[in-house]
Amino acid sequence: MRLSIVVPCYNEEQTLEKFYITIRETLRDCNFSYELILINDGSKDKTQQIMDSLSSKDSRVRFVSFSKNFGKEAAMLAGITYAKGNNVILMDADLQHPPSLILEMIEKAELGYDQVIAKRNRNGEAFSRSLFTRIYYKIINSLVDVELTDGIGDFRLLTRKAVDNLLQLKEFNRFSKGLFSWIGFNEYIIEYDNVVRENGDSKWSFKRLLNYGIDGVISFNNKPLRIAIYFGLIVTFFDILYVLFMLIRIVIYGVDVPGYFTTIASILLIGGLQLFFMGIVGEYIGRIYYEVKKRPHYIIQKTSEMIDSED
Ligand code: UDP
Ligand code: MG
Repeated sequence: MRLSIVVPCYNEEQTLEKFYITIRETLRDCNFSYELILINDGSKDKTQQIMDSLSSKDSRVRFVSFSKNFGKEAAMLAGITYAKGNNVILMDADLQHPPSLILEMIEKAELGYDQVIAKRNRNGEAFSRSLFTRIYYKIINSLVDVELTDGIGDFRLLTRKAVDNLLQLKEFNRFSKGLFSWIGFNEYIIEYDNVVRENGDSKWSFKRLLNYGIDGVISFNNKPLRIAIYFGLIVTFFDILYVLFMLIRIVIYGVDVPGYFTTIASILLIGGLQLFFMGIVGEYIGRIYYEVKKRPHYIIQKTSEMIDSED
């Protein structure tokens, strides 16, 4: 058995060394070989220097450095692309994903599960954040076709079979949570307590989370477009009722005051709806635009020497 641990890193100078030491300690007595694949997602701090020194001291540490920040999704994709192991674990560099779960995950994989998923509870998380997340999952699950669960993120073990299938999915707008669920396979879920990040900052601002949420909804199906159609139909129906009602009223009572207010109100209403749904349509067009360009997901600036070696 050979294990690959894939770790996306963006400005992790404060945690990376500690992360490496923890992994080394955890896997000290293990009876299998492993590699640590670090992806430097365009960090602006000393993350690269730390990767250089770790990989020169320990041949199990390999890295891939991007030319700029391409986002965690691209970093994970690069990681699983380079991973050679027959089991691949995806985890964060900030020790929020407890390395102590690694051995348990491997045990489960050996029982025949192709995805071993770590699920965290939300103890100790900022209230606003966990509230937003709960609302997000409520909304997203009613919209997308794949099942997404709160507390289940990217921390998981994938067998070679699962990884190879994941690599078949070439879309530009990657939404891993959805992709993991889409490929299927036997899943095993391990629960763990939420860990608060000790050093460095979370890279997810509220705005970034919101954008991630929109990505999640829109990259997975076209239900929002269907909502637009239903909504448009309903609005048009009431509009016709209103026009008929006004017409009958005018025939019976005649025109009293020219309806300045109602005119403006209806223009605003229809205008607003049109803008809203044009936005939705635009989102899809934007996505098509990115897909047809067929740009790579990331650009590599440099890699460690050992990245393509088989041992
Ligand atoms: N990360 C990345 N690129 C980004 C943002 C984040 O590679 O653009 C990495 C980051 O270094 C960390 C992981 O993704 O290892 C999770 O990020 P973070 O801890 O900021 O997210 P949170 O745990 O708050 O969801
Ligand atoms: Mg984190």
